[in-house]
Amino acid sequence: MRPFHYMRPASAEEAVSAFMNSGEGARYIAGGTSMYDLMKLNIERPSHLIDIASIDGLDRIETDGEELRFGALALMSAVAGDPVVAREYPILAESLTKAASQQLRNMATVGGNLLQRTRCLYFRNGSGGTSNVGVYPCNKREAGSGCAAIGGLDRGQAVLGTSEACTAVSPGDWPVALLAMDASLEVLGPSGSRSLPVDDLYRLPGDTPDLEFTLAPGEIITAIIVPKNAAGVRSTYHKIRDRESYAFALTSAAVALEMNGERVGRAHIALGGVATRPWRASAAEKQLTGQTLTAETALAAGRAAFSNATAGRHNSFKTELGARTVADAITIAAERS
Ligand SMILES: Cc1cc2nc3c(=O)[nH]c(=O)nc-3n(C[C@H](O)[C@H](O)[C@H](O)COP(=O)(O)OP(=O)(O)OC[C@H]3O[C@@H](n4cnc5c(N)ncnc54)[C@H](O)[C@@H]3O)c2cc1C
Repeated sequence: MRPFHYMRPASAEEAVSAFMNSGEGARYIAGGTSMYDLMKLNIERPSHLIDIASIDGLDRIETDGEELRFGALALMSAVAGDPVVAREYPILAESLTKAASQQLRNMATVGGNLLQRTRCLYFRNGSGGTSNVGVYPCNKREAGSGCAAIGGLDRGQAVLGTSEACTAVSPGDWPVALLAMDASLEVLGPSGSRSLPVDDLYRLPGDTPDLEFTLAPGEIITAIIVPKNAAGVRSTYHKIRDRESYAFALTSAAVALEMNGERVGRAHIALGGVATRPWRASAAEKQLTGQTLTAETALAAGRAAFSNATAGRHNSFKTELGARTVADAITIAAERS
């Protein structure tokens, strides 16, 4: 066990200043379900843990205004169980209830969920336990060390947004649903607060897969804002996994539909389990807009979503499964009103 300093600031402002005074090894912790895991795996080695879980007011859920507003410390289970979210935004509720287990959802926060790190086997299991010597190279874990997943056991790896340095899948379900719903974040940092679209939180791996998020050092997510949208009712988060009760996505699709009579006025489609970051399926959205919904038009949109996919040795199944996941999600969403 490595020693670290532990702090419990009383406000978001105090947390930011504690972070900025603690040097490069500072890390925030909320529910801890991801951070403690990574510390045990010797991937995260914080010098200072700044525990934000008990900051007052950051767990508020507000659904009666012009937008949905979730404090970053709201629990996954609390947001999923909110009556307005459950009734009017199944895309959001399902992305949470199909993630992790009930026990984890009772600990984990909706802010922490956005910043969890990949479940790539080589990233998680290649760190050499408590030594600093990597058993497997991983550019995400140790910049410039190489990627054992490329040409290795790549069944779970991404087929969209990959680079020669990294094919690790972005693991979260909730960010995929938020992306489809054009959500944004409230972020507080050393130079004040700003709004950040969820789309802009995530980087593509390129040749620096160790840099995953666009938050500046010390920045804390304080809230998640989802614009209210009538398409919320006609929506779903459809997740395909090896074990239905409890597993990360092999493929998933977040779909919400704005109808114009019999035709699709606007489609919101994002993908999980298949890409190196939460993935907006713009080609599928374009393909579906203006169409009457049938099994054929839904599948055509699914195929458009994967037109640029590139597979490795064992994950080519994701292209077909992913297209069919999108098609099924469109059909499920269309049946809701
Ligand atoms: C066995 C298991 C199965 C799982 N299955 C799924 C699944 O199927 N789908 C899925 O989506 N997730 C899954 N998860 C992941 C789980 O949802 C995340 O661990 C959880 O959401 C993280 O939230 P947390 O509050 O515990 O974050 P923490 O562990 O406290 O923090 C995670 C990261 O976010 C940072 N952070 C936290 N809050 C903030 C904030 N407000 N501002 C800035 N930085 C912050 C921390 O510094 C850390 O880097 C699973 C986890 C486990 C252990």
